[in-house]
Amino acid sequence: KRLIIGLTGGIGSGKTAATDLFAAQGIDIVDADIVARQVVTPGAPALESIKAEFGDEYIDAEGHLNRAKLRALVFSDESAKQKLNAIMQPAIRTELLDQLNQAKSPYVILSAPLLLENGLESYCQRVLVVDVPEALQVQRATNRDSVNEEQIKSIISSQIDRPTRLTKADDVIDNSGSLSELKIQVNQLHKKYLTLADG
Ligand code: ATP
Repeated sequence: KRLIIGLTGGIGSGKTAATDLFAAQGIDIVDADIVARQVVTPGAPALESIKAEFGDEYIDAEGHLNRAKLRALVFSDESAKQKLNAIMQPAIRTELLDQLNQAKSPYVILSAPLLLENGLESYCQRVLVVDVPEALQVQRATNRDSVNEEQIKSIISSQIDRPTRLTKADDVIDNSGSLSELKIQVNQLHKKYLTLADG
C-alpha cells in the first residue's frame, strides 16, 4: 500500500507553494480543493444531483454550475447547506480515494485545507502541517486574493486553531521564512518520505 502524506495548514499558510515543490520532485498531489471543483464539472453525477435537488437555475446554458448563486442559497438556508453537503462530501471522498489509488509516485500527498476538520487524515499514514503565525497568514492571503482582513480572519476562526493543528502533526514545515527556506524543508521531507516509502 502506497504511503499517503496528508498535508494541511490554515488559509494562506503556503500549502500550494509547498505542494508545487513536492510536485517538482515528481510526487503526485491529490488536492481536495481541485477535486471539489472536478466533481461538479458538466455532466458529473454530483452536478446532476444538485440540479435534481435545487433546480435547473443553478446550472448555466453550457452545463456549468452557477457557484455564486448556489453559495448565496446555502449562505441563507441551513437545510439547503446540509443537502448540498450530503451531495458533495461523498462525491469528493470517492474521487479523492480514486485519485490516491491511481497515484504512481513512491508516496502521494493528499492536500486539504480541512484535512483534520473533515477526518481525511484517516486515509493518511502521516500528517504534515504547513505552519505560519496568524499575522503572516492574514498578510499573505490578503496580498494574494482581493479580500479584506476581516474575511480572512473569519475564515481562520472557522478552521481548526493553530495549537490543536500542530498537536496533530507528525511533521511541520515552518513557512515563516522565504520561498527558498520552504524549498530546503520540502526537499528534506521528500528524502525522509522516500525512505519511509521504501521501508
Ligand atoms: P489557501 O488555503 O488559501 O489555498 P495556501 O495554504 O495554499 O492557501 P499559498 O497560496 O501557497 O497558500 O500561499 C499564500 C500566498 O503566500 C501566495 O501568494 C504564495 O505565493 C505566498 N507565499 C507562500 N509561501 C511564501 C513564502 N515562504 N514567502 C513568501 N510568500 C509566500
